[in-house]
Amino acid sequence: MAASSSPHALLLQQPLRPSSSLRCKQPLVVPRRSTISCAAVRSPPVSPSVATERIFNFAAGPATLPESVILKAQAELYNYHGSGMSIMEMSHRGKEFDSVIKKAESDLRFLLAIPDDYAVLFLQGGATTQFAAVPLNLCAPGDSADFIVTGSWGDKAFKEAQKFCKANMIWSGKPQKYTKIPAFDGLEQNPDSKFLHICANETIHGVEFKNYPSPSNKDAVLVADMSSNFCSKPVDVSKFGLIYAGAQKNVGPSGVTIVIARKDLIGNAQPITPVMLDYKIHADSASLYNTPPCFAIYICALVFEDLLAQGGLAEVEKKNQKKAGILYDAIDESNGFYVCPVEKSVRSLMNVPFTLKKSDLEKKLIEEAAKEGMVQLKGHRSVGGVRASIYNAMPLAGVEKLVAFMKDFQARHP
Ligand code: PMP
Repeated sequence: MAASSSPHALLLQQPLRPSSSLRCKQPLVVPRRSTISCAAVRSPPVSPSVATERIFNFAAGPATLPESVILKAQAELYNYHGSGMSIMEMSHRGKEFDSVIKKAESDLRFLLAIPDDYAVLFLQGGATTQFAAVPLNLCAPGDSADFIVTGSWGDKAFKEAQKFCKANMIWSGKPQKYTKIPAFDGLEQNPDSKFLHICANETIHGVEFKNYPSPSNKDAVLVADMSSNFCSKPVDVSKFGLIYAGAQKNVGPSGVTIVIARKDLIGNAQPITPVMLDYKIHADSASLYNTPPCFAIYICALVFEDLLAQGGLAEVEKKNQKKAGILYDAIDESNGFYVCPVEKSVRSLMNVPFTLKKSDLEKKLIEEAAKEGMVQLKGHRSVGGVRASIYNAMPLAGVEKLVAFMKDFQARHP
């Protein structure tokens, strides 16, 4: 092979790195149309498998993100702020990422009005890891902790906690198929419990706390898994000792879990606690003890910026109420064609599960909706039926389109 045509010689003649005078802010390579179709890319009313536009994605998580965020990330991906590289390729200790994580934290603090005596941590391992981290950090092995179980996620948190403390299930909605939230005054809390745990929004069952119980022991704290309604409405953080949330529903991609913890609760982890689960380690190093999920945190920062631009969480809540309202109305006004089993006062603004009286039509509805550009409507495998997850980033137009489709579907199946 002639030297000039060998791959290495070609590299020398055409270095892959553009010289600095050639460097430009836009991608040098125009993305080509791939011959591999991707179901995740959105489509007009044609099959999602050949989508060319964004579709309405009703997935429970990972879930739809604001279009403006996706576009901004795309524009910044190739060359982040003139650095010549993408945010994914940078040191987590460099100045660019330092300002990303600091802005993410300060915007989140502003959105939720997080008091100064609370730490904000950006962690890994999903909310599932917090099921262990919470008891490991808040309890000694023999300490009690109370759990109100209103769905499958609360039940998982309870079961995991049993390994690390004396976990007590003080109420379970299982006999009513997780369609209710208990009255708080009837709860029998343990007087020596260290914390009272709730799942603020049960993603599978669509049951959401509209207000919050207080621990009866004045030294105990309320702990909430807010994975599926995080930043969907204003929350009084001071009512909680600790809030945790996987980001991949309302505020970002999977890979980052946010913990908001009152500072005086940090620093008492059980000796067996792995460093990665010890809140003190992460608080002391501003979430940079080890390599954090940089790209996921960056996307969260863009989402927080977007939520602020919308006017903050009170505005976001109004939009969420409107979206959920038209969907629940469509279900309730269908003369029993569609049924939502959840008690009206505790229906989730985020996850709307429903069934069809003629259950054999559910599969058809889900398939036809997908053909119309509305995907991921299948209920969780453990409960079946249909579920529309309508997080912050689901536009009103998506819910209106779904409602119009449901009415038309009903009319076609008398
Ligand atoms: N809690 C809730 C309320 C959830 O919806 C989920 C995930 N769907 C989890 C916990 C588990 O989260 P992860 O997969 O991030 O561990």
